[in-house]
Amino acid sequence: MTTDWSEGKGLALIVSGPSGAGKTTIARALERACPDAWFSVSLTTRPPGPGDRDGLDYRFVSEEQFATLATPTPGSPMGEFLEHAGVYGRRYGTLRAPVEDNLRAGRLVILEIDVQGGKIVKAAMPHAAGVFVLPPSDDALLARLRARRRDSEDAIQRRFAAAQREMAEARTCGVYDRFIVNDTLDRAVAEAVEVVQGIRRGR
Ligand code: 5GP
Repeated sequence: MTTDWSEGKGLALIVSGPSGAGKTTIARALERACPDAWFSVSLTTRPPGPGDRDGLDYRFVSEEQFATLATPTPGSPMGEFLEHAGVYGRRYGTLRAPVEDNLRAGRLVILEIDVQGGKIVKAAMPHAAGVFVLPPSDDALLARLRARRRDSEDAIQRRFAAAQREMAEARTCGVYDRFIVNDTLDRAVAEAVEVVQGIRRGR
């Protein structure tokens, strides 16, 4: 089932990028820069990390809660979700109803999700736009993954390999309108704002 969101100025914006590229920082800065932005808080089964705020960064739910919400119903193969995906053995998903409500209200809906999720959203909402945040270089990505002090060196190498695959997939999947290199944060945010304004003006 696809939904035509071309009516009105509501815009779904998919923001993706490998972990360590700075996509969360850019997505949050974009939220502050656009007065009518609404940031979609994902549900996840991963445990909260240090600094994660339940309800603000994620809604942390059990596997059972997630599975119940994801149970397909007639006309809704993803259940209550607009999209969901498995990332590093954990489940992540975007609830459909709040996204639709905010689009109907004409807002910029920011979906910070991975490429698998981006493809599902784009299939359901062909008018969704996408930006993909790239690290300035492989070395910079590795350095940022290490600086987070969240993972072992093994896990860092796995995330690095996954990042390479995700960047290659992003180039070919047709979801992303713009690839933003996060060399300087202010410049990268300005570019993201410009993409959004450009799309909205063009409608
Ligand atoms: P992290 O656990 O590091 O916060 O996120 C891991 C990955 O899951 C990131 O690539 C992030 O973009 C992705 N992610 C977060 N929320 C969602 C979601 O609702 N759906 C999908 N498909 N991916 C998500």
